[in-house]
Amino acid sequence: ELSARFEDAVKGLRGENKISEDNVDIALKQVRRALLEADVSLSVVKQFVQEVRDKAIGAEVVRGVNPGQKFIEVVHQELVEVMGGANSPLADSTKKPSVILMAGLQGAGKTTAAAKLGLYLKDKGLKPLMVAADVYRPAAIDQLNTLGKQINVEVFSLGKESKPEDIAASGLKKAQEEDFDTLIVDTAGRLQIDEEMMNEMVRIRSAVDPDEVLLVVDSMIGQEAADLTRAFHEKVGITGAVLTKLDGDSRGGAALSIRKVSGQPIKFIGTGEKVEALQPFHPERMAGRILGMGDVLTLVEKAQKEVEIADAEQMQRKFQEATFDFSDFVKQMRLIKRMGSLGGLMKMIPGMNKIDDGMLKSGEDQLKRIEAMIGSMTNAEQTQPELLAAQPSRRKRVAFGSGHTPVEVDKVLADFQKMRGLMKQMSSGGGLPGMGGFPG
Ligand code: GDP
Ligand code: MG
Repeated sequence: ELSARFEDAVKGLRGENKISEDNVDIALKQVRRALLEADVSLSVVKQFVQEVRDKAIGAEVVRGVNPGQKFIEVVHQELVEVMGGANSPLADSTKKPSVILMAGLQGAGKTTAAAKLGLYLKDKGLKPLMVAADVYRPAAIDQLNTLGKQINVEVFSLGKESKPEDIAASGLKKAQEEDFDTLIVDTAGRLQIDEEMMNEMVRIRSAVDPDEVLLVVDSMIGQEAADLTRAFHEKVGITGAVLTKLDGDSRGGAALSIRKVSGQPIKFIGTGEKVEALQPFHPERMAGRILGMGDVLTLVEKAQKEVEIADAEQMQRKFQEATFDFSDFVKQMRLIKRMGSLGGLMKMIPGMNKIDDGMLKSGEDQLKRIEAMIGSMTNAEQTQPELLAAQPSRRKRVAFGSGHTPVEVDKVLADFQKMRGLMKQMSSGGGLPGMGGFPG
């Protein structure tokens, strides 16, 4: 599993404060495997890993973030960059109508994506016309007509005897005469890349001079996306892509291949069979999906934003000296709360995402009990837990004040001492300050 790979990668870097040539290769091996498992094509993976290596070496670790997380951040950022950084919108055409040509294999989702785009443009207040230029499958024209009715967008078609390029040209003429804003040309695909399909695409392209040639790619085809993109881009020339069927369980590695091979952006993703299931493509989200590790980066960002560096350093020192006391504990709790719920936070930590809700609930309940006990302590007791250890009468008072039994208070005290020991160990091993050593 992918997130497991990254846990391994992170483990390989634990205890280091800089990503170096020595330690980066172990982690990169995991990245390589993870990307291959996400169905990124081999040549793209090789290139990518080399680039990450160059960027990662020498990357300093931000205080409060360990090298493993820093490494993941570098990988993530590189993925985002390779996929174009930000969302690429449809070409801003000065022509009226602007023309979008749909390309791709049979079954990729071209006709569906044509209608999705029709709806998308209509919602923006534009007037699109869809053209049915797939004359090979008898049902193809009906399919587009049905979708057109659903979204209330007009569909242009001619008889099946007409040539696709003539249909496209007639559609363009109609759109010009009737003041349509955008022409969306749906085309036929084949089961595989073939010469005839490419030649037909080239003829249609010449007939309508498109602003956009969008390659529609089924995300489930995985590694084959690279060859497919290469073929279409060489023969027809694409300006972007639509990655479909991301509602399935594909990891989306095709996105990386398409972009790397063609240099053209993914513009939209399809996330379902319904006409509404179209979303602008966002590289950050796809990078997270490809890495398959939930929201680790969100955690890194939060850690950077919320943990005051000075506080973190002071805590670190206290861990090391084992002078961490109950008032520090309360401070830590507040820091953690500002970073979100404990449950949400734990799930973002690599390796912690397997914690089930029951475990989280009992962990949170325990923290609440401890907070209540701390609330019943005097200031002296909070800063010197030894006082409590030495005097049973103090423990009894705290128990009574917080609604617990003396036995429960004894247990918390024992756990706290254990936690101190653990923190001391962890802080010398370079854990993330503010995260370490929850009791229980
Ligand atoms: P075309 O041959 O390229 O025109 O492909 P179609 O648009 O006819 O789609 C082929 C099949 O894939 C149809 O059953 C669609 O409903 C389905 N499909 C298209 N896009 C998506 C998507 O984003 N998610 C899912 N789950 N199915 C899709
Ligand atoms: Mg079709």
